[in-house]
Amino acid sequence: MKIKRQKQVKKNISFYKYNFNFREPFQILIDGTFCQAALKNKIQIKEQMPKYLMGEVQLCTTSCALKELETLGKDLYGAKIILQRFQVRKCPHFKTPVPASECLLSMLEDTNPHHYFIATQDYTVTTGLKKIPGVPLFYIILNTIVLDKPSQASLDHVKAIQLGELVSPAQKQSIRSLKEEQGISQKDGEKRGRKRKRKQSNPNPLSCLKKKKKKGEPTPPLKKSEQGEKKKRSRHKKRKPAGGDNISTPADTNTR
Ligand SMILES: [Zn+2]
Repeated sequence: MKIKRQKQVKKNISFYKYNFNFREPFQILIDGTFCQAALKNKIQIKEQMPKYLMGEVQLCTTSCALKELETLGKDLYGAKIILQRFQVRKCPHFKTPVPASECLLSMLEDTNPHHYFIATQDYTVTTGLKKIPGVPLFYIILNTIVLDKPSQASLDHVKAIQLGELVSPAQKQSIRSLKEEQGISQKDGEKRGRKRKRKQSNPNPLSCLKKKKKKGEPTPPLKKSEQGEKKKRSRHKKRKPAGGDNISTPADTNTR
């Protein structure tokens, strides 16, 4: 069973490494509820986390989470002692503390840019973080730490990247560095586009020749012939582009 679980954990960690750029040391943001559960189940967070993730970890919390434990009193004193040992990360509520659940969710922002793992037993936090792609969740169940499987939001995000609807941060960087290597910037691309357009606008020499041939066609009075030629020319000119327009416009409107 243990080997099976370890395989699953490895698989989940590589999912976050590959798709969301998670790197060691893994940042684990912990709240009081998790510490309380660890204490009850005699789990040493500091010892277990690196083993569980098979890598270096950095355990951290926020001042709001600490404050909340303080206000809850003696029952959570042990949990507070554990939480105090972790690094305190800056949150935007320095002057006016908010509930830990609100604080943890605010630390994740919209895209979890600091690559936090969240360790909590608080249901409001777990439901909130599942809406943000790329947030791994730890909780404690039956005396063991469990890394939850990737959320639907994370899976959808990865699918969108694979379908080319989104560009992953790693891809963005490699594109940028490749462009720099090749000395290509957006301005160069624009200039090239303009040059091509100018070339297309130049008159086609072959079309000029055809007009001369048509002039030679015999027709009795000069003035009438000239008018006829003009009409013929205009018809020919109009038919070709007009035909193209007629085909393209209804198709466009239909698709739109
Ligand atoms: Zn806070």
